Amino acid sequence: MDLHLYNTLTRQIERFSPANPDRVTMYVCGPTVYNYPHIGNARPYTAFGVLAKLLRRQFPRLDYARNITDVDDKINEAARQRGVPIDVVTAQYTQAFHEDMAAIGVAGEFAPNLEPRATAHIPGIVRMCERLIALGHAYAAEGHVLFDVQTYAGYGRLSRRTIREMIAGARVEVAPYKRNPADFVLWKPSTPELPGWDSPWGRGRPGWHIECSAMAEEHLGDTIDIHAGGADLKFPHHENEIAQSVCAHGGAEFARHWLHNGFVTIEGRKMSKSLGNVLLINELRRLAPPEALRWLLLGAHYRQPLDWSEAALRQARTTLDRLYGTLRDLADVAVDGVEARADAVQAALADDLGTPQALAALSELARDAQKAAGPQARALAKARLLAAGRWLGLLQQDPQAWFQGGAAAIDVARIEALMAERAQARKDRNWSRSDEIRNELAGMGVVIEDTPQGARWKLG
Ligand code: AMP
Ligand code: ZN
Repeated sequence: MDLHLYNTLTRQIERFSPANPDRVTMYVCGPTVYNYPHIGNARPYTAFGVLAKLLRRQFPRLDYARNITDVDDKINEAARQRGVPIDVVTAQYTQAFHEDMAAIGVAGEFAPNLEPRATAHIPGIVRMCERLIALGHAYAAEGHVLFDVQTYAGYGRLSRRTIREMIAGARVEVAPYKRNPADFVLWKPSTPELPGWDSPWGRGRPGWHIECSAMAEEHLGDTIDIHAGGADLKFPHHENEIAQSVCAHGGAEFARHWLHNGFVTIEGRKMSKSLGNVLLINELRRLAPPEALRWLLLGAHYRQPLDWSEAALRQARTTLDRLYGTLRDLADVAVDGVEARADAVQAALADDLGTPQALAALSELARDAQKAAGPQARALAKARLLAAGRWLGLLQQDPQAWFQGGAAAIDVARIEALMAERAQARKDRNWSRSDEIRNELAGMGVVIEDTPQGARWKLG
C-alpha cells in the first residue's frame, strides 16, 4: 500500500518513496533532558512512532534515530542549581523520558533503534564545524564558530521566510562577533565551571542545531528520507540543520520529507510554565491508564492542534472501556492461527498518518465484533480487532488487566531496589546473584546498561 505524507518543504501531500528502499532512514529531534517530559513532548514520538511501525512493515529495514540532547544551557542551569555535574541531571531525565515513553506505548516497533547522545558525538561535531569553516560557510570569532547564513542561498526555504523576516521574527542574538545578526552558533566557548571539550577554538561546547546534523550524518548518512519534529522546530532549528548539512555535504539534500506535528494545548490554552498548566506525563499516568493517554494523543491528526481536556481524557477511557468490553465478551474464542488483516486501519495510516480515521475504524471493528455470531465469525472479528489495534499500539492488554486499572504500572521502586542489590552483588563479586537479578529485571521488561558511570536501566 502506497504511503502518502505531507511534506513541509513542498507544502503538499506526496507519495513516499525512499532513496534506497533497502534502507529507509528517519530522524526525529529528541528531547533535551533537563526536566520531566510533558504531554506535548509525547506527541511527536507517538505520531512518528506509528510512522516508524508502518515503515518497518513496508520496507526491509528502517533506521530510525531519535537523539538525546544532553548538553544545553538549560541542562547546565539545572545542574548548577542542584550543584551536580550535568550527567547526573541528564541520566535522571533520560531515564524518566524512557519510562514515560514506554508507558504510553512508544516502545518496540514504535521506538527508535538508534538513540544517539550529543555528548558522545563531540568529535563528529568538531569535524563538521571544521569542514564548514574550510568550505567558507562558517567562521571562528572569539572562541565561537558561527554559520554564515549569507553563504547559503537556500536559507529560509523550509519555513518560507527571508533572512530579514527571520531576524525580525525570532529573538536573534545580536553579538559584536557576528558578521550578520542571523548567523547562528555552531560552537561556543565554555567558562571553567561549564561543561566543555577541547577544540581548535579553545575549550567549548556545541550549539544545539549542529548536534542533530552531526548525529544524522554519522548514523543515517548525508541525505535522509524523513526528518520530523514539532512545528516549533521549523525555524530556527530545522532551517539551521538544513543549512549546516547541505553545506557540509557539497549541496546534497539533507532530508527528502519534512514532517511537523501541531501543538498540544490544554483546554484551549498554550501549555506553559507561566500559566501553570504544564501536564507532565508521569502525573497523568497516575490519573488515567496510559493507554487512554495514547488513545487521546492519536485522536487528532498529527498536523492539527490537539486540545487536551479532562473531558477528552474521560471520553478516551470510556471508548477503551467499550472496546475492551467487546474483547472480554470474546474471551472464549481463540484467535491463534486466524488470518486477519487490518485494511481500514492500514489505509487510514497510509494516508498521511490518519490516526483519527484509524481509531474510528477500530471502533467500527468493535461494533462488527459485537454483532458477530457463531464461533468462526466471532474468532475472525476478534482477530481483526486485535490486528487493527496492533498497528496503533492499542488493545493489546488482557481485558481483565484493563478493567483492573489499566496497564500494569511500572514499579519503579522495586526496579531501583533490585538495581541497588545488583550493584552490591557485583561489588561482592557475587556474579550468580547479579545474573539472577538481571534475569528478574528482564522478566519485568527492564534492560540494564552498564556504563562507566554505573548501571542504568531502561524499559526494553
Ligand atoms: P524539547 O525537549 O523541548 O526539545 O521538545 C521535544 C519535542 O516536543 C520537540 O519535537 C518539540 O517540538 C515537541 N513539543 C514541545 N512542546 C510541544 C507541545 N505543546 N505540543 C506538541 N509538541 C511539542
Ligand atoms: Zn534536531
